[in-house]
Amino acid sequence: MTLSPPLPPRDGVHYRACNLCEAICGLRITVQGGQVTDVRGDPDDPLSRGHICPKGAALPDLHADPDRLKTPMRRDGDTWHPMSWDDALDLVARRLRGVQAAHGPDSVATFQGNPSVHNSGTLLTAGAFLKALGTRNRYSATSTDQLPHHYAAAEMFGHPLLLPIPDVDRTDFLLMLGANPLASNGSILTAPGMRERLRAIRDRGGRVVLLDPRRTESAAHVSEYHPIRPGSDALFLMALLHVILSEGLARPGRLADVTDGLEDLHDVAAPYTPEAVQAATGVPAATTRDLARAFARAP
Ligand code: SF4
Repeated sequence: MTLSPPLPPRDGVHYRACNLCEAICGLRITVQGGQVTDVRGDPDDPLSRGHICPKGAALPDLHADPDRLKTPMRRDGDTWHPMSWDDALDLVARRLRGVQAAHGPDSVATFQGNPSVHNSGTLLTAGAFLKALGTRNRYSATSTDQLPHHYAAAEMFGHPLLLPIPDVDRTDFLLMLGANPLASNGSILTAPGMRERLRAIRDRGGRVVLLDPRRTESAAHVSEYHPIRPGSDALFLMALLHVILSEGLARPGRLADVTDGLEDLHDVAAPYTPEAVQAATGVPAATTRDLARAFARAP
């Protein structure tokens, strides 16, 4: 297999999407003399509306970095030698097969970084490669930060990718536990420009509530911030459920026909009064009751 070197970019203005994170901001890229001279947010992008973060703005530095790897490198003692893609792929395939033949399929592990989800080549080929590899030791950005969401989605909705996300641009009450959208750029939500989106909720009379053990960057952009003890989110959520169910505030509406076990939930949530969990969560019972009622009554 021979890979041709990429052609230099054409001079002019190019519109692309940043593939560094799932905010997928629209970019306006200027090329002059074959060099990227400017990258900025595209104000006409319907999703990101001109938003760009420092990582996106630094893409030209990444592109032109003299230390950027453009060919596989093989370490020999303390030195590194460039090698061809053909030789590199043969070497990796031979070594992987050797390790697995000697120690079993699970003796190798994989890790996929976040941008691999935003690369069409990786997206198309990684699944087949991982299946052929046959190891159960597969790690990724998902396994380090969002697998509980996928697990809950699979249990509740039947598929790990049926992830419910808040409708940030229309909601009137946004409750966040441990989320730091100013830093994550709305990860999972694919909602770049969260600073403006949070402000818009407050501007239309809504309420943005953040619970986090740490007063994060996002805390300055919410209606109210409440510290919570680390590891106690589940207790706080059970107390919310307790208030909503015991005070008859649940409105399952058309979802009632497709919901199982709501009565069981009443029994499960019964012991978790806000008063019973406040010592563990550090959230005053009155605050929990207020949040539960406001959350349930939000339009
Ligand atoms: S938030 Fe930053 S890294 Fe993420 S897509 Fe936008 S510019 Fe790229």
